[in-house]
Amino acid sequence: MALKVLTVVGNRPQFIKAAAVSSRLRAAGSELLVHTGQHFDDELSAVFFAELGLPAPEIQLAVSGGSNTSQTARMLSALEPVIADARPDCVLVYGDTNSTLAGALAATQLNLPVAHVEAGMRSFDRTMPEETNRVLADHLSALLLCSSEVGVANLAAEGIGAAGQRAGSSVTEVVLVGDVMVDVAREAQPRARERVDLVRAHGVEPGDYLLATAHRAGNVDDPQRLAALAELLLGIGVPVVLPMHPRTRARLKAAGLLERLSSAGQVHVIQPVGYLELTALLCNARGVLTDSGGLQKEAYLAGVPCLTLRPNTEWVETVAAGWNTLVDLDLEAARTALAAVPPAGRPELYGDGHAGERVVAALSARFGN
Ligand code: UDP
Repeated sequence: MALKVLTVVGNRPQFIKAAAVSSRLRAAGSELLVHTGQHFDDELSAVFFAELGLPAPEIQLAVSGGSNTSQTARMLSALEPVIADARPDCVLVYGDTNSTLAGALAATQLNLPVAHVEAGMRSFDRTMPEETNRVLADHLSALLLCSSEVGVANLAAEGIGAAGQRAGSSVTEVVLVGDVMVDVAREAQPRARERVDLVRAHGVEPGDYLLATAHRAGNVDDPQRLAALAELLLGIGVPVVLPMHPRTRARLKAAGLLERLSSAGQVHVIQPVGYLELTALLCNARGVLTDSGGLQKEAYLAGVPCLTLRPNTEWVETVAAGWNTLVDLDLEAARTALAAVPPAGRPELYGDGHAGERVVAALSARFGN
């Protein structure tokens, strides 16, 4: 019998990650793609399926909104019968969202093994809901697929991996596969870089603007930090293109800051964009301002300096390499970082663009019959 995997995805970065794996998985065996519904709007969901050639989900659960706890609970209830019915060889989850945790926990409660892509990344900041999701998903997983050596080392420090198998459980396996987002970005960036038309359409010139994205709870749910974010964007002194996440838009609107930001000539507030357009905006930017995890890696790959709007990051390699600076919401720190000259080299931190193949090989070796 061929390998049968049930994959749980639910939001934007997971659609991008799954694009590097799903079609290969279907060539090697079979996949049932379950979309929890965490991101449901066309601009955060449908556009990625269409653009990245991701197969349409076989099952849509339509679970969204509410607190993290309530959303995760509803996902667990919705996933349990689906996973029980499918009886896959394993359940595959990506990253650090509520969909990741719900998929991993529902599978474990059904005594089915879990494979986690992007295992071992840590910000060591337990106030971030994503950190809780990552740690728990890793500790539930049988196959931990890491993006970098740092991920492998973080797992070893928690007693997961060759150095410390967990007693009483089935063997836990850690495999360094590289980062699946790198596969997708490597393919898209050369093409996107040429698309200066997509940049000029937003009223800015290549090399003369910053690409900004922000939606982490720690930045947009706290009114003081939200105000600091707006001040930073308004004060940075370079035009900013800001594809605005719906959560950020709602918070800025409620705080009376949306109008101020949108009416400032220097900040171009736009709707979230598809992957090609985002990549065109990234590759032609002078720098990136972001609290996104994925964008920190993509900026590194594109050779665009990144200013991370957080006090910490799980993508520490980009900071050590000198291409990413943790400026949090400090305008002066952001100005200083922007003025710095980036290093000459960019070592291959997250693999060679073939992580998707290695994910499928590891799944087949471990769970194929
Ligand atoms: N992205 C996109 N359009 C946008 C903003 C982001 O395609 O308007 C992509 C971006 O290139 C990256 C991913 O979405 O691949 C990051 O997603 P997000 O910031 O939502 O999540 P995180 O990476 O922080 O988990």
